Amino acid sequence: MQEEKCVVHFPKTSKHIASIPETSVYEIPFMYERAKKAFRDWSKLKVEERLSYFTVLKRVMLEELEELAEKISVDTGKVKTEALVADLMPTLDFLKHLENTATKTLGRQKVSTPLLFIGKKSYVEYMPRGTVLVISPWNYPFQLSMVPILSALIGGNTVIAKPSEVTPYVGVVMEELFKKANFPEGVIQFAHGGKELGAALTEQKPDYIFFTGSVQTGKIIGQVAAKHLIPITLELGGKDPMIVLKDANLKRAAKAAVWGAFTNSGQVCMSVERLYVEKEVYEPLLSLLKEEVAKLKQGYGLNDDVGSMTFSTQKEIVRAHIEDALKQGAKLETGVPPHEWKEDSMFLPLMVLSGVTRDMRVIQEETFGPVLPIIPFNTVEEAIELANDSEYGLNASVWSSDLDKAYSIASQLVSGAVVINDVLISVANHHLPFGGTKQSGIGRYHGEQGLRMFCHEKAIVVDDGRKKTEIQWYPYKGKYRDFVALLKEYYSHKGVNWVKFLKHYRELIKKSNQES
Ligand code: NAD
Repeated sequence: MQEEKCVVHFPKTSKHIASIPETSVYEIPFMYERAKKAFRDWSKLKVEERLSYFTVLKRVMLEELEELAEKISVDTGKVKTEALVADLMPTLDFLKHLENTATKTLGRQKVSTPLLFIGKKSYVEYMPRGTVLVISPWNYPFQLSMVPILSALIGGNTVIAKPSEVTPYVGVVMEELFKKANFPEGVIQFAHGGKELGAALTEQKPDYIFFTGSVQTGKIIGQVAAKHLIPITLELGGKDPMIVLKDANLKRAAKAAVWGAFTNSGQVCMSVERLYVEKEVYEPLLSLLKEEVAKLKQGYGLNDDVGSMTFSTQKEIVRAHIEDALKQGAKLETGVPPHEWKEDSMFLPLMVLSGVTRDMRVIQEETFGPVLPIIPFNTVEEAIELANDSEYGLNASVWSSDLDKAYSIASQLVSGAVVINDVLISVANHHLPFGGTKQSGIGRYHGEQGLRMFCHEKAIVVDDGRKKTEIQWYPYKGKYRDFVALLKEYYSHKGVNWVKFLKHYRELIKKSNQES
């Protein structure tokens, strides 16, 4: 049987750079077995002991930082500065975040115990689930694999990772990093290949599935998870709105909109994909946007701003959205129409689009390319309605010099995150939860829950075991009226009369002791 290969092409030249052997589906049961075996020891380690492996990983990453940036850039077409700042930095920052927080977050948490349970203590404990399957996309192939992998590993789980077949080279790079950091065998394994392999991995009943990718695939994986009752997190697409009020710092807003829309060539789940601008400042903001776009340099060099598209299929989606918009009367304020695009190039023009309407694909669907539609609005209420008029709800931003007004708008947006007077940045704060509303996903990671979700949350109640019995145990004889009186006293809106409360409580203890 011929071995299947994932082929790596450099996006700029389409030049073949490597062939990576695909993991055979026949290998999958063995991978799960190895993961299960490794779980026995890995799950028993203390968080600090696991962290010692992470420290080595961080050291190796820092030693190889520039090579890693180069490799990510080669596989994706993004500029090296973005590979460094948006793929490597969030991962390094997350490793540092874990060093500072993981022991406390995953340690036993004492919680209060109701007064009615006199003498008892309560705790929450976090117990690893088993083998976690992490499936990731191609746009930030490094950080969108590494952060969930590390989140699962630190809790004592073992991980099988399936990076995107569109950027397979980064998959191998990550696998090598874990080897160099001497992670024990079977603790983290990589499966290289496409959607068939991904589907086969989900069918082998992992203990948790963490998926980042499209809504379409998320729904398929959700069905498999439901069939086997596998807990799941889905981090899906976005169509993020940016709302600019007339009192905003327009120069800053223009710079932010251009960066938010064109970073990574717009292939960002939380790209600015809809720019709503208060009518009075629509024209001035539009001319500032044009000035900013004119300054940008496309290329792969260290001084270039915008790299190329990663995936030719995505280029065709962008083309279809632009053609649909232009056909319906939209106007390109910057860039050129698709018939003028260079067919053999993965670079797309940076397109600011005016005259767009709600029903166009470029407003309804995720474009995931260097396209910034700009739409005027009359009132704040209208802006909120337009922003919420989407099946997605991942991130959003609000721009105003009146922070109270901005907070109020932020609270009304149906979105996993909102940034005020900045864009995208919420994802980079590992103390904050990250995830979407509506079709943008189910669940959150980052923050404390981003580690705890990979664990069974176990409730523990402790009694010192010295009392003979409990008031709520058998026998019930003669206790009903005492319980009624006790509850009326304890939950009284007038406040508890403790003398009366203790009288009923002692009566119940007496009856329990007499009868037992
Ligand atoms: P995709 O859904 O096509 O693929 C994602 C991964 O799923 C790949 O590894 C793929 O091989 C695998 N896969 C495909 N079919 C599968 C199946 N049936 N079973 C199991 N695995 C399967 O998405 P993509 O094109 O790689 O990524 C782009 C999408 O990801 C965009 O919609 C983007 O918005 C979204 N995204 C979301 C976030 C987020 O955090 N919310 C971040 C980045 C990207």
